[in-house]
Amino acid sequence: MSNLEETTATHFIHAIIEEDIANNKNDGRVGTRFPPEPNGYLHIGHAKSICLNFGTAEKYNGTCNLRFDDTNPETEGVEYVEAIQRDIKWLGFDWGDRLFFASDYFDQLFDYAVQLIKSGNAYVDSLTAEEIREHRGTVTSAGRNSPYRDRSVDENLDLFNRMKNGEFDDGTHVLRAKIDMASPNMNLRDPAIYRIRKAHHHRSGDKWCIYPLYDFTHGFSDSIEGITHSLCTLEFENHRPLYDWFLKEVDVFHPQQIEFARLELSHTITSKRKTKRLVEENHVRGWDDPRLSTLSGLRRRGVPPEAIRTLCERVGVAKFNSIIELALLEYCIRDYLNKKANRYMGVLRPLKVVIENYPEGEVEELEAVNNPEDPEAGTRKVPFSRELYIEQEDFMEDPPKKFFRLGVGREVRLRYAYFVTCVGVVKDEATGEIKELRCTYDPETRGGNAPDGRRVKGTIHWVSAEKGVPSEIRLYDTLFAKSDPSKVEEGEDFTANLNPNSLTVLESSLVEPAAKDVEPGVPFQFERQGYFCMDPDTTPDRLVFNRTVTLRDSWAKIQKKEGPQKKKK
Ligand code: ATP
Ligand code: MG
Repeated sequence: MSNLEETTATHFIHAIIEEDIANNKNDGRVGTRFPPEPNGYLHIGHAKSICLNFGTAEKYNGTCNLRFDDTNPETEGVEYVEAIQRDIKWLGFDWGDRLFFASDYFDQLFDYAVQLIKSGNAYVDSLTAEEIREHRGTVTSAGRNSPYRDRSVDENLDLFNRMKNGEFDDGTHVLRAKIDMASPNMNLRDPAIYRIRKAHHHRSGDKWCIYPLYDFTHGFSDSIEGITHSLCTLEFENHRPLYDWFLKEVDVFHPQQIEFARLELSHTITSKRKTKRLVEENHVRGWDDPRLSTLSGLRRRGVPPEAIRTLCERVGVAKFNSIIELALLEYCIRDYLNKKANRYMGVLRPLKVVIENYPEGEVEELEAVNNPEDPEAGTRKVPFSRELYIEQEDFMEDPPKKFFRLGVGREVRLRYAYFVTCVGVVKDEATGEIKELRCTYDPETRGGNAPDGRRVKGTIHWVSAEKGVPSEIRLYDTLFAKSDPSKVEEGEDFTANLNPNSLTVLESSLVEPAAKDVEPGVPFQFERQGYFCMDPDTTPDRLVFNRTVTLRDSWAKIQKKEGPQKKKK
């Protein structure tokens, strides 16, 4: 831009686009696309590309297509096509009527290939796959020409048509671009552009038994759709000369490809192929396992799409690869949920409490605030009764001075209820294990304040034994023990870095009755325990909750570069 002050660009890609608009390139039009291959579910890395492509179109009044690059019939399918659409919508983007499939261009792509043959720029090679690999050379040595490289145009046309007509078996011939077997860029060493695959395609059915390769398809598909800015990740940088070559030789509309760094998160993998292995080898419970960084997994875990979009914004768009701390995503989640999430009480690991001076059989409804951060969220009733459950870790038989929760002879506040004092402990005679606490309550402290101004240091959460709802609560740790799971010892692969303790299932938790009515998938807070959401495994008899994140903010700590600090409880 001539006048830098006018720019609204926050990164280099938008700076390029603003300059193109200023120069009236493509008549000032901006067209982007998100081009997934439907061979797996989307992950958080894809979210960056989705936010960038759809966000750019939105910002510059342009269009963004959703296009499936579906050129590998054997590994692709409708399940993935549907899941990908679901995930993009959930993230908050809409392609309107701009849904496309590369497979819809197969006729056009075939014509482009014929055009290349006719101009002497493509040939049918009949070497085996193995021989082709041998002829390719290495990064340090030039490749060798195939003996079939100089077939005549007529012979090539004839063979290519017969490939199309199904006369040959898989792997017997390929169509290759005729570029340069000595190019330092391996992608330009006569890459294959069409191969024989007698496979059923999820859209084109059995119409084709030859399929164009990804590199051939991708650039042309962008061209056919009139994409002005083809935004893609850095690993495609050295494919660009090939795309440019195709577009120039066939002489069609030429989108501008711009590469940016992938989003990688610590302790997770962002690869469809690797995720597929985790699913197929049962390391996780499916593509939507809440431990995965797939969008469907994050959704099931209760991560709000807004938090993912905020993460992508904060990470920005640049040209160098880096690994983002998972803690930053967690920070974005907490930051969003703190203002939005309603509060409930749930006891993860219950310890029974009997209030000796509370009338047997009586249940009273106490008023609790739904969200202290949002006065509009209102209040609810929480039932209180003689028998309650509190968290095991909120009691210590022999507590140190700084322990402000319950101990024998100590008084605490039960959140929204009363002050209670522990007067005794009942133990299992054989094991010595604490079975229940005996307490008394002060009826004067209803609502949590003492009229005599007496104070207590601790406030703990609780659930009525009579009215509490039995629940299963799933707690998650990182799926991988290492920050970069792809770093492995000799002879190992990334699965060696899986964290064996990534899932903890608590089967005897109890939650307050109102938590029965949370909307599935919408996150809320169990006070002091973190953000949670109801899992689809929930049945009428048994609630199942996933912990989205804990309340502890490790990102702030990382930023301050402090060591472990006192836990605020
Ligand atoms: P994977 O390697 O996980 O299979 P992919 O790159 O092969 O992913 P595609 O379906 O081809 O998956 O990706 C669609 C788009 O998303 C591409 O434009 C790709 O560049 C982009 N993308 C993929 N992974 C990331 C990532 N980690 N960060 C940002 N963009 C990504
Ligand atoms: Mg890839």
